[in-house]
Amino acid sequence: MSSGEETRLYLVPTPIGNLEDITLRAIRILKEVDTVLAEDTRTSGKLLQHLGIDKRMHSHHLHNEHKAVAHLIDRMSKGEKMALVSDAGTPGISDPGFLLVRECLRNNIKIECLPGPTAFVPALLKSGFSAERFTFEGFLPQKKGRQTRLQELAKEERTMIFYESPHRLLKTLGQFSEYFGPERQVSVSRELTKMFEETITGTLADVIQQFNQKAIKGEFVLVVEGGKALKASYANE
Ligand code: SAM
Repeated sequence: MSSGEETRLYLVPTPIGNLEDITLRAIRILKEVDTVLAEDTRTSGKLLQHLGIDKRMHSHHLHNEHKAVAHLIDRMSKGEKMALVSDAGTPGISDPGFLLVRECLRNNIKIECLPGPTAFVPALLKSGFSAERFTFEGFLPQKKGRQTRLQELAKEERTMIFYESPHRLLKTLGQFSEYFGPERQVSVSRELTKMFEETITGTLADVIQQFNQKAIKGEFVLVVEGGKALKASYANE
């Protein structure tokens, strides 16, 4: 089965807060495709409405991704063009997308991924930590495997980036302090590109103290400076 040279699936990043952060190409592709696959059709429907695009939408989220993929592959093989969007940012980055992409590749269906908004890049750059080498960890496992992952990461020399929900922020920062030491530098970016965007950077001990004194609201990216690299770079100064 082959869909020839024409792209059938576009991965289209959408804003992480500021609606101006959508590319001209993303808008054109959303207009041109036959169907928009959306994590939440209400959320993406509002974006499409804002862009003046009236398009058939189909729900595609973590809970139906496995089941839906075969049917979508069949439709794309017959010529349907689709755009996958998530609620915010780049699909496939801590969001559904991987399974669909893998099946497209296995079925010789051409895909394109547009570059665009994703939360971890501005958080990394705003931290001021080395962006030369970094590891994107997404969400830590909530239960099984969490301690093992933290133990492994205690040896990590590269800058580490995590996504976290507001109600687990303090728990996670506390565990970072336990596993990486309270003096390790961390940068917490919240509400990137939105009205209440802020970035707080300091030792884990300081940052935990600051968050203990305020209401924790919004979306968060945590960036932790790498382990040995830190000592090495100070030693070279
Ligand atoms: N696909 C998205 C991306 O490309 O960044 C990530 C989706 S993931 C389900 C949602 C998480 O991304 C949030 O819990 C938060 O950690 C991070 N995030 C998304 N938007 C953000 C924002 N505006 N400010 C800070 N963090 C954000």
